[in-house]
Amino acid sequence: MDHVLIIGGSALGLLSARELSLAGVRVTVVDRQAPGRESSWAGGGIVSPLYPWRYPDPVMTLANWSQRQYPQLVRTLLNDTGVDPELECCGMLVQAPGEVLEATTWANRWQHPLEVLDAAATKTLEPERATTEDDTLWLPDVANVRNPQLVKALLADLQRRGVEVLADTPVRGLDIRHDRIAGVLTDSGSLSADAVLLCAGAWSGELLGSLPPAPAIRPMRGQMLLFRTAPGTIRHIMLEENRYVIPRRDGRVLFGSSLEDTGFDKTPTELVRSELLELAIARYPVLAQAELENHWAGLRPASPDGVPYVGRHPAVENLFVNAGHYRNGIVMGPASARLITDLMVGRAPVIPPAPYALDTPRSGD
Ligand SMILES: Cc1cc2nc3c(=O)[nH]c(=O)nc-3n(C[C@H](O)[C@H](O)[C@H](O)COP(=O)(O)OP(=O)(O)OC[C@H]3O[C@@H](n4cnc5c(N)ncnc54)[C@H](O)[C@@H]3O)c2cc1C
Repeated sequence: MDHVLIIGGSALGLLSARELSLAGVRVTVVDRQAPGRESSWAGGGIVSPLYPWRYPDPVMTLANWSQRQYPQLVRTLLNDTGVDPELECCGMLVQAPGEVLEATTWANRWQHPLEVLDAAATKTLEPERATTEDDTLWLPDVANVRNPQLVKALLADLQRRGVEVLADTPVRGLDIRHDRIAGVLTDSGSLSADAVLLCAGAWSGELLGSLPPAPAIRPMRGQMLLFRTAPGTIRHIMLEENRYVIPRRDGRVLFGSSLEDTGFDKTPTELVRSELLELAIARYPVLAQAELENHWAGLRPASPDGVPYVGRHPAVENLFVNAGHYRNGIVMGPASARLITDLMVGRAPVIPPAPYALDTPRSGD
C-alpha cells in the first residue's frame, strides 16, 4: 500500500496519518474545513476514561496502551515541532459512592495507582473544592492534554513529514465499484489512492451511507465552559456526578460537560450554560470571581458501547475505518491509530483487533 487517503483531519485522522507516515506510507488527509476542529477541539483532553471501571475491556485496552505512550508522544511532538500539547499529570479525583470495590479491583487489574481518601485528605489535595466527602477515589497517574494544542502539534508534525493536508474540501460520497473504492468524491473532482481510511468522527456513519455493515456512530453533544484563573488555583481533575473540572497549565479551567442527544446541532444553549455555571461555582466558589472566557459545544462520535470501529470494511477491500471513539477519542487515539496502521500495512497488530472490527456486534446495537 503506497498511498492512503484519510477522510477527516482531526485527532483520529491526524494520529493515523502520523502512524502511517512513520510506516513509510504516503498520506493525503482531506477535511471539509480547517483540520482539527469538531470534537477533537471541543473536548476536555482527559487522558483517561471517566469512571474507567465502568468501561468494557476493549476501551480499557486502547486507553491503557495510549496512556503509557502519551509522555513520549508529547515529548517527541514538542521536540520536533516546537508546539507543546501541554500534557499535565495532574491526577483525577472521583466521587463515586458505592463503587469503591469495583474501582480498586479495576486498579489492581490494570495496574493503575488508586487511593481512597477521606474528606480531609481530599481537601488538602484540592483546597478550593467547597465541600468534600469521604471515600473519594484518587487516581494520581491521570493526565490531561490540551487537545487543541495536540492537534496543532500533529499538524505541524505532518507538514514536516510531507503529508498533504487538503482543508476546505468536503467529501460528498464514496465511488465504490466492484467492492473497491475507486475514488472519493469532492466538489473539485474525485480523489483516489490505494486505500481510504475514514476518520470523520460523528459524520462517519453518514459517509458510509447504506453500505452494510454500517457502523452505528451518531453525534452526542457536549457543552463546556472555560474559566480563566491564576495557575494552580484548581489543581486536579475532579469528577462528580458526570460533571468534571479540568485545570490547564496556564490557569484556565474547563468545566463540563453535558451529554445531549440532539443530532448534528452543536449550538451551545443558555440552559446548559447556566446549569454548568451554577454547578461550577457551587463546587468551586473561587470561580465566581473568575472570567468566564468561553462556552462551546462539540459532537462526540458515539458508538453503542464506546468501543470504536477500527478495521477494514468487510464489504470494500480497500476501505478502512477508525471512528466512533465517543467520550474517549483523545485517550484511545494513539493506540487506535497504531492499530489501524498495523492492519493496513500488514504488521502484527499491537492490540488484538477482533473487538473493534466493523462486523463485531456491539452491546446496545
Ligand atoms: C465536550 C467533550 C468533551 C470530551 N472530553 C474528552 C476527554 O476528556 N478525553 C477524551 O479522550 N475524549 C474526550 N472527548 C471525545 C473526543 O473529543 C472524541 O472522541 C475525538 O475527538 C474524536 O475525534 P475524531 O477525529 O474521530 O472526530 P472529530 O474530532 O469530530 O473530527 C472529525 C473530522 O472529520 C471531518 N469531516 C466530517 N465530515 C467530513 C466530510 N464529509 N468530508 C471531509 N471531512 C469531514 C470534520 O471536519 C472533522 O475534522 C470529548 C468530546 C466532547 C465533545
